[in-house]
Amino acid sequence: MSTMKFIPDIETKRLAIKLKPAAEKMVKREHPWVFSDSIIKQIIDGKAGDLAIIYDSKKNNFLACGLYDPYSPIRIKLIQFKKSAQINEEWFISKIENAFNTRIPLLETDTNSYRLLFGENDNLPGFIADVYDKVLVIKLYSHIWFPYLNWIIPALIKTSECETVVLRLSRSLQSKGDIYGLNDGDVIYGTLETEVVVFREHGVLFSANVIKGHKTGYFLDHRHNRKRVGELSNGKSVLDVFSYAGGFSIHALRGGATEVVSLDISKQALEMAKGNAILNEHQGKHEIMVADAFDGLQSLIDRQKKFDIVIIDPPSFAKRENEIEKAKKSYSRLAKLGSQLVVPGGILVLASCSSRVISEEFFNISEENIVAAGKTFEVLEKTYHDIDHPINFPEGAYLKCGYYKLK
Ligand code: SAH
Repeated sequence: MSTMKFIPDIETKRLAIKLKPAAEKMVKREHPWVFSDSIIKQIIDGKAGDLAIIYDSKKNNFLACGLYDPYSPIRIKLIQFKKSAQINEEWFISKIENAFNTRIPLLETDTNSYRLLFGENDNLPGFIADVYDKVLVIKLYSHIWFPYLNWIIPALIKTSECETVVLRLSRSLQSKGDIYGLNDGDVIYGTLETEVVVFREHGVLFSANVIKGHKTGYFLDHRHNRKRVGELSNGKSVLDVFSYAGGFSIHALRGGATEVVSLDISKQALEMAKGNAILNEHQGKHEIMVADAFDGLQSLIDRQKKFDIVIIDPPSFAKRENEIEKAKKSYSRLAKLGSQLVVPGGILVLASCSSRVISEEFFNISEENIVAAGKTFEVLEKTYHDIDHPINFPEGAYLKCGYYKLK
């Protein structure tokens, strides 16, 4: 049996809190975020991870409880609503088991990579746990979790049956200096033979660098869309824009694509894509193109290239409120550029992972710009989140993907 890296016991206290009426209303609707400026009553100062109990400002009864985060404008992250409960080891075990149970149908497919905990949406705000075969990668986005790790990690190991646990810390956590002797990329349980872990996604093999890769090493959220693209790709030429490690590209190759071009600005990501292609038997040709997507698409248009399928899955363009307009412009440009690269009767797949641009708006932008590029379209499908990325509050919904057959 492996032992877990020592994490000190961190004492927490209880804070009684009352909120402004508008915030109280949100709490009653089970929204998990309480902003610092909505707190009207708090007698003692809170430390990270203290249990904040929200009482009704008039009737004084329990409304919700959460964890106090002095480092974030989202001052309290709520974890339990309506009925008060002891937040103890059993509470965490039951949340983790619930999360696992909702993912069972996915694990019955030929897949051993999944998101076991999706933050707020699984009642653990800012706590991500992704499984890659036997390696569990925990990514923390908030200080609130350190006092509870000695309960949570053993429960995650037991439920997921993982043999190794890697801890990843968000950039903002890392910027706050020493955190109980823990560092980004620490192997906190078991051993990690190599940084690169191989796993299966609907029968297709991938590898992820769980220590240095983006987020936890790979983007699990598009699994369903990648499978769909694989099913559409037999005998087709495919362009995968913002390909990262080739998620869509490799499914296309496995699905029988004759030619796949993976385009990304990161040479390193494209090296991973090449490596991932090699992991899977395929006949089609795989090419990589290191370029800025906007320039790269334009140069393909200038060279009069055409593809049967074009996938455009950019990073989140609207990380902040004031980036929304610019994000919409980028989506417009990409839809217009992509439309010009699809053969008549071919398919354009447009995705967005910006929660600030809601799905209806994104699909409208996509469709207006296909038309502006002089094409007509038929909507084949619109997809949202896969089952290991449940949504239980509006900001939790970020992924949308439209499949358009162009004429
Ligand atoms: N489609 C991928 C995930 C995309 S993540 C998948 O299925 O896994 C976003 C990718 O966009 C990253 O690999 C990043 O390197 C790339 N990227 C960011 N800005 C870019 C730009 N201007 N041009 C091309 N690629 C870019």
